Amino acid sequence: MHEFTPEVEAIADEILSYSLHRLKTDPPLDGPMSAEDLFAAVGNTITARGLGGQAALEVFTKVLAKACISTDHPRNLAFIPSAPSEYANLFDLVVGASALYGGSWQEGSGAVFAENQALRWLSDLAGLPDTAGGVFVQGGTMGNLSALVVARAEARKRWPETSRWAIACSREAHSSIASAAQVMDVDLLLVDPDSQGKLRGGAVASEIDAFHSRQSARIFAVVATAGTTNLGIIDDLTGLGRITKERDIWFHVDGAYGLAALCAPTLKPKFAGIEMADSFIVDPHKWLFAPFDACALIYREPRLARAVHTQHASYLDTLQDDDAWNPSDYAIHLTRRTRGLPFWFSLAAHGTDAYAEAMEATLHVAHEAAEKIRRHPNLDLVCEPELSVVAFTRRGWSAAEYQQWSDRLLADQVGFVPPSSHHGKPILRFAIVNPWTKVADVEAILATL
Ligand SMILES: *Cc1c(COP(=O)(O)O)cnc(C)c1O
Repeated sequence: MHEFTPEVEAIADEILSYSLHRLKTDPPLDGPMSAEDLFAAVGNTITARGLGGQAALEVFTKVLAKACISTDHPRNLAFIPSAPSEYANLFDLVVGASALYGGSWQEGSGAVFAENQALRWLSDLAGLPDTAGGVFVQGGTMGNLSALVVARAEARKRWPETSRWAIACSREAHSSIASAAQVMDVDLLLVDPDSQGKLRGGAVASEIDAFHSRQSARIFAVVATAGTTNLGIIDDLTGLGRITKERDIWFHVDGAYGLAALCAPTLKPKFAGIEMADSFIVDPHKWLFAPFDACALIYREPRLARAVHTQHASYLDTLQDDDAWNPSDYAIHLTRRTRGLPFWFSLAAHGTDAYAEAMEATLHVAHEAAEKIRRHPNLDLVCEPELSVVAFTRRGWSAAEYQQWSDRLLADQVGFVPPSSHHGKPILRFAIVNPWTKVADVEAILATL
């Protein structure tokens, strides 16, 4: 298994040429298959004697790969799709081939140094101090949880007599906040956003004060969303930042999707107030053109995270002997892939201006999409897009009709646009993060409505 035989050499050529072909050409959209159909097609692939490299590769390329929706297809506008740059994808191959260990400075200093420069760029865009820092974790869910665990540890120092804790966030906050609350066994104070869908400082302040006067539980963090997943709405970061400072409460900004737009000069002002964050996240695998899976988690004071997340054991203590920067110490993980490197490579190679341009290109398509929806006889915009999510409704359709349309769109390989809902009513949404997505792609989908 560990010898590079002529047979391995031949498979290596095939794997590399498959990978390059996948990168160079528009992938088909593809779609899911049932487990029964997949079994009928490939049978049991795990056997005592093995299928051989050639056969196993064909199982993947001919069957399994085609049962996976291409998240980078230009007409995949579902959830938040992905759009890795060519360089980022290529460098992922290098990371995979290099057995890099990203948990400690001792083992991965070169890679960690590069990841830290990429994190620094994000931190600087947000206006955090030079001492800010963090780590690339698996995804926004893990980033939010890791930050909130630090927030609670800080609150415990401040209010040692408190035994029950709660997080304040918008009703429109991402599901990962409720997941974090459940994992941490803390409560959620859900606050209604205003009529534009934005969580406001004033509303949160009065809800928090009322909450504290009626029970002994304390709010230890306010989570703002900088770009909601469903509609792309940015909460009032300035107002929320201010009321957290007044109350000495941790201010976490979940910008998994939206904070990418910090690098677009026309959008940066929308995020005013982000500089007050105690921690924030942004997923390069969403709108910063990196492959899965990479979330940048950044703390204003990383030493607070280190005090909470460092794992201690006889076999690990050697890592803590000096003041080295060990990425493991800043989130809930130990062994880690240097998952920030594909993002770093692309950023280093292309420069940050290219990011701003690519982002503006997606914003232009989102703007055009909104314009076409406004003029479409059967469609209504849910709201003016604040970022690159464009949400709309189809007049006269039931939830079942939305679903049927979406199923047909995928079956016909035109696009992937699953229905969502807003205030209990079905909606459609285009999440445009891919510079490959052109106005013509949007038109092709709108023509079916
Ligand atoms: C996608 C998203 C998350 C979760 O990120 P994952 O990388 O999918 O875990 C959290 N918050 C927001 C606002 C998101 O859009």
